[in-house]
Amino acid sequence: MLSVAAQIINGKMLAQAIRAELHMQVAALQAKGVCPGLSVFLVGDDPASALYVKNKHKACESVGVFSEEHRLPAMVSQEELVNLVLAANANAKIHGILVQLPLPSHIDKRMILETIAVEKDVDGFHPHNMGGLLQGNSCAVACTPKGVVKMIESTGVPIAGKRVVVVGRSQIVGKPAAMLLLERHATVTICHSRTQDLAGQCREADILVVAAGKAKMIDATMVKPGAIVIDVGMNLVDAGFVGDVDFEAVSKIAGWISPVPGGVGPMTIAMLLENTIEAAVRAAKRGM
Ligand code: NDP
Repeated sequence: MLSVAAQIINGKMLAQAIRAELHMQVAALQAKGVCPGLSVFLVGDDPASALYVKNKHKACESVGVFSEEHRLPAMVSQEELVNLVLAANANAKIHGILVQLPLPSHIDKRMILETIAVEKDVDGFHPHNMGGLLQGNSCAVACTPKGVVKMIESTGVPIAGKRVVVVGRSQIVGKPAAMLLLERHATVTICHSRTQDLAGQCREADILVVAAGKAKMIDATMVKPGAIVIDVGMNLVDAGFVGDVDFEAVSKIAGWISPVPGGVGPMTIAMLLENTIEAAVRAAKRGM
């Protein structure tokens, strides 16, 4: 059978285009005296987290967003971290606050995320913003799912009426991605580790979003011909980072596919910038 290669959803290029637009938006805001600012908290010395934070700072710099970093030792007390987040809440120069996850086990992650002021929660993890997502209200939406939707939209294929399967039900990717797609009138199935016949479920999908954290778990037999496949997974193996999708095999079946790296990752960072700028615009409207 003659196989046709899928079109690549190039997250890196999409993110570059979005960042160019954001750069212009920041310049216009600065001309009005508004300088969007992001405060990032990094606890401990996990090299992956340090790399993510470094990339976020570089991205801020590239579009003119002010960013500051609080690098704290792994043994920082919960109280100290809470006080620092409260100080950022009160700082008018800061419009977005991000606490890099994971946090050390002695720190109550939920309590820290709830300490972030709702209007500065650029990660969209505060229960208020998660609840807003469920109600379909406009609010800060988690960066990775927001980027996933933009990637799907970039194909030009209408989402309404499509069958979507999301593999993964985490608070930060799977569930919000499913909600955003439901909001766009897709028929959404969420799969997880107890799902029976995962392959059969995935084969039903016109749009397949995979966020399980299992290297190459989706093979070509699990994908409907012509489907849009978005690979959120980032798995470090001997050869470097690979996604949750067997790219080589699935790209012969799918209609569109996002690569790893160069797919969802750069879009996540672009969405963080967008959320920070949107938060600055909202603050300016409130006169802060
Ligand atoms: P979590 O570990 O929090 O969630 C993984 C989900 O996948 C769970 O719901 C789990 O099911 C499900 N799952 C695991 N194994 C299977 C399986 N064999 N079959 C079906 N479902 C399965 O991960 P995250 O959501 O935080 O992240 C997912 C992936 O996305 C990771 O590789 C992460 O590195 C990557 N990621 C990438 C980002 C980017 O910007 N590129 C940003 C965020 C994450 P259950 O609930 O039953 O345990």
